[in-house]
Parts: sequence; C-alpha cells; structure tokens
Amino acid sequence: MYLTDPVTILKGVGPKKAEALRQHGIETLEDLAQFFPKDYEDRRKITPLTQVRPGRAFLVKGTVVSRRYSGNPYHRKTPLSLLLQDESGMIEIVYFNGRYLAGAFQIDQEFLFYGNVTENRGRLQMIHPESCREGSEEDVRGVLPVYSAIKGISQKEMRRFQRSAAELTARIPEWLPEHIVQSYRLASPAYALSNIHFPEDRHHLLVSRFRLIFDELLTLQTGLLYMKQGIREDHSGVRIEVGKAEDFLRRLPFSLTEGQRRVWGEIASDLSSEQAMNRLVQGDVGSGKTVIAEIAMYCAACSGYQSAMMAPTEILAKQHYKNLQKAFEGFDLSVDLLCGSMAASEKQEVLGRLADGSTDILVGTHAVIQPGVTFSGLGLVVTDEQHRFGVEQRHRLSGKGENPNVMVMTATPIPRTLAVILYGELDISVIDTMPAGRKPIRTLAFNMKEMKRVLKGMTQEIEKGHQVYVVAPLIEESEAMDALSAEEIYEKMCKHFPNRRVALIHGRLPQQEKDALMESFHDGNIDILVATVVIEIGIDVANATMMVIMNCERFGLAQMHQLRGRVGRGDAQSYCCLVMGNESEVASKRMEIMVHSGDGFRIAEEDLRLRGPGEIFGTRQHGLPEMHIGDIVRHGDVLEKAKQAAADILSEDAALQGADFAELRRRVERMFGEDIKLEL
Ligand code: ADP
Ligand code: MG
Repeated sequence: MYLTDPVTILKGVGPKKAEALRQHGIETLEDLAQFFPKDYEDRRKITPLTQVRPGRAFLVKGTVVSRRYSGNPYHRKTPLSLLLQDESGMIEIVYFNGRYLAGAFQIDQEFLFYGNVTENRGRLQMIHPESCREGSEEDVRGVLPVYSAIKGISQKEMRRFQRSAAELTARIPEWLPEHIVQSYRLASPAYALSNIHFPEDRHHLLVSRFRLIFDELLTLQTGLLYMKQGIREDHSGVRIEVGKAEDFLRRLPFSLTEGQRRVWGEIASDLSSEQAMNRLVQGDVGSGKTVIAEIAMYCAACSGYQSAMMAPTEILAKQHYKNLQKAFEGFDLSVDLLCGSMAASEKQEVLGRLADGSTDILVGTHAVIQPGVTFSGLGLVVTDEQHRFGVEQRHRLSGKGENPNVMVMTATPIPRTLAVILYGELDISVIDTMPAGRKPIRTLAFNMKEMKRVLKGMTQEIEKGHQVYVVAPLIEESEAMDALSAEEIYEKMCKHFPNRRVALIHGRLPQQEKDALMESFHDGNIDILVATVVIEIGIDVANATMMVIMNCERFGLAQMHQLRGRVGRGDAQSYCCLVMGNESEVASKRMEIMVHSGDGFRIAEEDLRLRGPGEIFGTRQHGLPEMHIGDIVRHGDVLEKAKQAAADILSEDAALQGADFAELRRRVERMFGEDIKLEL
C-alpha cells in the first residue's frame, strides 16, 4: 500500500463507497489521511452503572445477566433486550432487529457498550449502543474521532478506513529540513497524522494539530511567495512617466479625495520605478477607483505604452468602455473595446489597430488575454473586480506584454489580514475615503410580516420614476432551503405591480439574455428587476434607488454590502430594505450591523468573525486553495510563522529544486493545482 493508492484498495470500499468518498474529494489514501476529524469523543472512562444518567452518552462495562426477546424470537424484527450488570447496578440494552444479534451476546460474558442513555418507565436503557467484547476495545473505547458526515459511510466505517490508512502514515518520513523542524518545534509527520485521528490525549492532539496546520499554511505561503517572487524576478519593469498626470487631473470636474491622492502616489512611484507594478487597489463601492486607473492609463499613453483594462463581464466591459471614452474626450487618446460577442470582422479591425499601435487603451473581458491578441507595447494592465479572476488568469495577463505593470481593483472590502494572503504576491493600496457630498443609503430592516411596508416603499420610488432591485437567494423553489426563490418573488411582484414593467434575471440565463436585460434596466425600460446575485458585480444604474434583499439571513454581510452599493449612485436618496425570512438572533445581529454601518471594511471584518473566510468569498472564487485544517483567520499566528519559514526556504532554494524540498514542492503543486507550475 502507498499513500497514492486509490481508496478502493481498502477492505470494505467498493464502487459505491468510493463514489461517496470522491464526492468529498477523497480519492487516494493520502486524501483520506487528510480528511481530519471535526471533533472527538472522549470514551476513555468507564462509568459505573449507578452513575449513569439519562440524556447523554456513556461508556459502560458489565456482564450480560439476561437476554430475552420481547416477542416471537424467530421474527426478524423482534427487539432483543439484554440486562447488563456491574458491581454497582444494572441497565437495559435494546437492539431492534435483534434477531441478527442472537449469537453475539452470551450470558455471563463481559462487554463494553457506548451509547446514549434514556429512561423508559423509570428504567435506564441504551438503545442500539456500539458494543465490543472485553479485550477488543479499539473501536469503542478511547478518544475516538468524529468525522464530517459523508452520506453512505458511517462513523464506524470511516474510523476503520482511517485505521488502515494510519498504518501507512505511521511510516511517513520527516520531509522538512532539520533546522525548520527545530526552530518551529514541530512534531514528526507520522506522529501528527496518527494523533490527529486517534489521539492518545489532549497534549498529543494539540502538538499534532500544530504540525498539520503549520504544514498546510507553510505550503500555502510557499506557493504564494513563490508566485510573487516569480513575477518580481521576471519583470524588471516598464517605466512609465507620471509627470503628465497633472494635465489629466486639472481637467477633472472634482479634486481627488485624500485616499485617492495617497493611492495615486503609491501607484505613481511604482510606475516610475524600474520594477513592474503589482498592486491591488481596494476601495469600497463608489470610492473612486476608476479615476485612479484612468490617471495611470493616461500616463502610460503619454509614455508611449498601451493599457488593457479587463472586466469580468461584457456588460461591465462595455460600461467601462463608455466611461473611458467620456473620460478621455478631448485628449488625443484612442480607446477600443474587445469582447467575445463582437463580430469577427470587428474583432479583426480592433486587433489590427492594437498591433499597429493606434489603440492606446483596450477594454474587454477575458477576450483580452486570449493568445491571438497581440499588443504593440503593453505597459499597463488594469483588472476590475479582481476577485472573479483566478491566480492563473492574472499570470497569463501579466505575461502578455514585455513586462507590464499590473493594477488590480476590487470593491470587495477584503480585510487586510485576508488580502495579504489572498493576494500575497501583490502590494496593497486602500482608498479609505469617499467623495464628499454623497448621500448615505438608508438601510431598513423588516421581517416577512412587514412586507406590505416594503411594497409601499417600492410603489413610492417607482412613482417618482425610479427603479428597484429585488434580490433573492435562490433561482427556483428548493426543498432543501427555506427561502423564497427569485421565480416566486417575480410572480408575486408581477401580481402586485400589474401595471409596472417587472423582469427576472438570474445566473442560468444565457449571457446574451442577461446582457440584454441589464441594458434594458440601464436604459430605464424596467421598473422592477428581480434578480439573484448575478447583479452583484458593479453595474451602474444611477436611477435605481432601492435595493430589496429578500431572505437576507442567507447572504453574507459583505455580499449584502456589495448589493447595497448598486443603489445610491445618483443624486436621489436611496434605500436598502433587508427582509428577514427566518428570524434568529444571529440574523438580527447581522441586520443591525448592516443598518448601522456603511463601512465596507468594518462589515467585512464582522462577517469574517461571524462566518469565516470560505463562507464570505467562496474560496475557489478567489483562487485561494482549499484548506483541510489551517484557517487563515483563526490561525493568524501560525500563518505568520509559516510565512517566515516560507521566506527562509525560498531564500535558500528559490526554485525548490533541492532534494530537501522535494516533498514541499509536491505539496505546493498539489495545493495550487493548475494555478502554479514550479518550473523556473
Ligand atoms: P468605484 O470605486 O466604485 O469603481 P467609481 O470610480 O466608479 O467608483 O466612482 C464613482 C463615482 O464617483 C464616479 O461617478 C466618479 O466620477 C465619482 N468620483 C470619483 N472620484 C471622485 C472625487 N474625488 N470627487 C467626486 N466624485 C468622484
Ligand atoms: Mg468600479
């Protein structure tokens, strides 16, 4: 047996169970060993029968003194009832379908039982406890792991599989160099893996957890640092003169906010340096990130370089295109659009202009990074709403030009602690001020019984000629979730507003249809747009003044804040109505945060605290690999140590080529998959 063997080589794992495991990402014995327990049951102590109380589980030991069927013993379903006795007292043990167990429990023999104790007419009972004979206690006694439920596989089976895998993991050699093991006082991997599943005691468990968390975070940090180093070393930069920025700034109808000025300063110094820029610009919705990008693109053009601006959807790309055309009106600068839905001839034309250098700025979707797109001198790449792009795409993009500067803009207010990790290879700037004079959005909380008031509010806004978004957590009705679907809400809205133009948009519609609907909403041809979170991404409709979020308890705070940012883009007072479907204390607390805070960063911090990072962002969406045991928020201290270790390792062996780091390298590749290729 090897760790790379498929789980099917284990006894008891047939095609069905293998499929069940695969659903949870477990295909090899290594995957299995990394399926760590979510909890443990302490079943070390045997409780004397007189001390057993109903209401919780106990481990007991005694002699079977009586055994009887409460009915026809030949009938399959006749319950088997045992009377178990120890020095102190008695308890009744009951198995339904007891016929199968007829031979298992002999009178006068000793057994251990573990199970929940209940009371039945004054008598204590254990129904269907786990059992074993005295002397073969492994499966019932001890500190036993509890795994996340996998349909079709019982805890007992999972423990058995894990025991088999543990025979292998017990022989895993140390794979980190001695000095790292020493300086971070790490337990051996064999010890750690064996104790994480079947710990001898609390101390063993803690030491083991530390090692495994460290391993995982070290792998993460090494991968991220490796990428950062890759970009840095490959790209000693394109230099862009920033002196001309003043010309552009002078013609803006406003002056930059303090935050914008600081961030521009940081970018300007990156652009004018020898090194290529790799910077993440974070700023709440409406903080004015685009202007910063415009200044940078203007400077690039003045220095004779082209810029590319990439957005995650066509609608957004088109919106940027329009805005940029307006922004550069009166400057001697040409802006072009390239996206998938354009006719081939149109594309050809743009590609030609791009290649001969007549295009200064190219706006587009992923189309911009396709292999056939050739720039004549790409100096700057701006990507908007970066969190929708994976790490790999980011790299493809920066590989386009000679060595372009990269600027990444995101409105998702990612707490700094998390941003450092998510975008480990980027420097970070934050626009922490808002343009003056903007009216804050009024946020109001309701429950379902108060829906009438929400509808009344909607009527008022629509009568003023404004438009309304209504967002639902689901597309269609679902039995699994107790929430209103967009389809249901759409029907209700149509009924309630028979004379208004109501439309439904969701992620399952073809892209073209979505684009058409968004355009129609943008042009004011729809009064009420019922939507799923597809509208989350920054579409600008200044006339939309109300955002209604149904079943708001189903949304993350950061997500709601993003949604709320869709309104309040014009001069009119805007509103956000949160409608709680299933009331709970946590839901109320979260609504309160939303009602009282308009600060995206504070909201994101709270969300992180309440729900954890995976919940907020969806780890895959961010290109951050999935973790088995490490938690970048809760294990901040280990993360720091791992970062230090990763830096030491890469300074020793920048390409991880040495035999000392072969296993680390394998782990990095395994964790980052397609996103990383260690082949410098
Ligand atoms: P976001 O950060 O959400 O991308 P935008 O860049 O789209 O924000 O800016 C939102 C609006 O604010 C735009 O209409 C922009 O022209 C305007 N704006 C940007 N900076 C300022 C400023 N310093 N003063 C006033 N208005 C500004
Ligand atoms: Mg924007």
